[in-house]
Amino acid sequence: MGDDFLGSNRAKMKRFFKLESIREYLDSLYVSKFEAFVMVFLVCLYAVAEFGGIGMLMPVLQYISEGPAVYQSGNLPLIWEILIKVTKFFQIPLNLATLLMLAFIPILLRQLFYYLQQSYTAKIRFRTIGRIRRESINQFLRADLEFFLKQGQGNLMSAITLEAGRAGNLAFYSVSLLSSIVLLLLYGVLLLIIQPYLAVIAMVTFAVAFLFPIRLIRRSRKYSEGVSRENRNMVKQAQDRIYGIRLIKMFSQEKKDFLRIKKIINRMTDFLVKADINRAKVTAFTEPLVILAVFIILYLAVDLFGMALANLGLFIFVLYRTVPHVKDINTKWQRINVNFHSSRYVRKIIEEAKASQRISSGSIPFEGLKHEIVFDSVSFSYEGNSHFVLKDISFRIPRGSFIAIVGPSGAGKSTLLDLIPRLRDVTSGEIRIDGVPIKEFDLKSLRSKIGFVTQEPFLFKDTIINNIAYGHDGKVSLEEVEKAARDAFAHEFIAKFPKGYNTVIGDRGISLSGGERQRLAMARVLLQNPEILLLDEPASALDSESERYIQLTLESLRGKKTIILVAHRLSTIKQADQILVLIQGRLVECGDFPTLFNKNGVFRKLFDSQIIK
Ligand code: ADP
Repeated sequence: MGDDFLGSNRAKMKRFFKLESIREYLDSLYVSKFEAFVMVFLVCLYAVAEFGGIGMLMPVLQYISEGPAVYQSGNLPLIWEILIKVTKFFQIPLNLATLLMLAFIPILLRQLFYYLQQSYTAKIRFRTIGRIRRESINQFLRADLEFFLKQGQGNLMSAITLEAGRAGNLAFYSVSLLSSIVLLLLYGVLLLIIQPYLAVIAMVTFAVAFLFPIRLIRRSRKYSEGVSRENRNMVKQAQDRIYGIRLIKMFSQEKKDFLRIKKIINRMTDFLVKADINRAKVTAFTEPLVILAVFIILYLAVDLFGMALANLGLFIFVLYRTVPHVKDINTKWQRINVNFHSSRYVRKIIEEAKASQRISSGSIPFEGLKHEIVFDSVSFSYEGNSHFVLKDISFRIPRGSFIAIVGPSGAGKSTLLDLIPRLRDVTSGEIRIDGVPIKEFDLKSLRSKIGFVTQEPFLFKDTIINNIAYGHDGKVSLEEVEKAARDAFAHEFIAKFPKGYNTVIGDRGISLSGGERQRLAMARVLLQNPEILLLDEPASALDSESERYIQLTLESLRGKKTIILVAHRLSTIKQADQILVLIQGRLVECGDFPTLFNKNGVFRKLFDSQIIK
């Protein structure tokens, strides 16, 4: 048993004491040098006061058993010499009352330092968790889109919640372990002072009592890992089932899906029960072992060493103070292990978020589109994928024109739109606006002049007014919001809600149809009043009435804005000044509707195969 434990622990220790591991560990603490120093300093103060408190018990016990004769002999221990000097200086009698009073002072101090240490550590502990959460969210929000696709919602959410919480606890448990180690060393020294032989025997018996249940303790770690794993599993599965409830109902999978989650819950329950039983086993084993150790020590103390009652009392008292720290060391070490891994995970994900922030801003303020947008031999491939999604694409978009992009699914239409506001950057080639490469523009000013409406627009669980006025920091009036809503044909349905513009979307039965969501997104973009408008199939999933509203909005914007639209509807495409036909990432045809229709080429094929309807 011991060998296996010691062997694996030795390997762990070796790894831990490598310089880079220590550095990594220090980085993982997420506390400043000052904070670490204060925490360690307070631990030391507490230990000193504890030392003083126990030290003062010795003269008290000696006085009780021997009376004033104890300090009247020659060759006095240091503590008595100090006590005699102190009482002389303050001119107070050296009796039991004085001794008890003096013994109380270090106890008071110890409790004061305990309070200071606990409150400071608690402050640092929860501030650290907050710090890690802020840092992660801040870096996530700055990361490029690829990062989100790679990590997925689950990883990011667990990094911010569970893992950040654990990572923030690393410093707390480290200080806690340090405190136990310092105190154990101190108790060891005290025991050695009182009776060295017995101290060594006590240490050995305690070590045995500590090592005996090590297997059980390690097993409890396995159980707690099982609980976390099944918990993550349950959350993921339940979340998926809640999102997919329509599908589940349509395929009558309620029972099967329930059974699947039930199995996970049962496994988790099993781990929880086992963990608790195991904990009970540890206590059941350890306590009698410790008491047995104390009894053996008692026997040896009286029978073998013939210790005086005062010394024996003190010895047992120190042993008693040692027990909780001996029991805790293992648990704290385990916690540190788990928390260190969480901290490493969070740091890795933050580093990845930072590394993915490749789209950097240029310095030229974007004043607005004056002449044209030019795609010059633009190619694009997604990161880690050698396949080019866009290949050598060149075209011009004059200011105020209406461009439709058509092509089968997967042709690269959405990707092409993403390149204009630099949600992604070209792999080769260049996009220029009025002769300036878009990379040279200040990103914020560029994006502020580009409106983007996607097929399934995103709305926050917030009021309608806040959704429309998103990004304006409250600097727009209700009239302006209302005008944008009217122009997007959204005012009418908003006004029907009892709370009008203050209706919270997603609140108590307030759910919007696809068309209404689309019109709100349109209102948001109209309020933004961009120069360039990008629309990704805004009407493809809509009913004909909603589609007509989008058409009307677009018509009203024609000539005033530069519009680039991914479209499938013939009615929209017909309006375009220029149609770009994309097939497998290549721009194969370009022209207005009559030209392309009569050309009898790819566009006509798309038309005939009803990809364009
Ligand atoms: P469209 O809008 O014409 O349907 P997209 O621009 O969405 O086409 O996609 C073009 C191609 O790029 C598709 O083959 C798609 O699978 C691929 N693609 C889209 N997004 C990613 C991504 N994040 N990573 C890798 N490939 C992607």
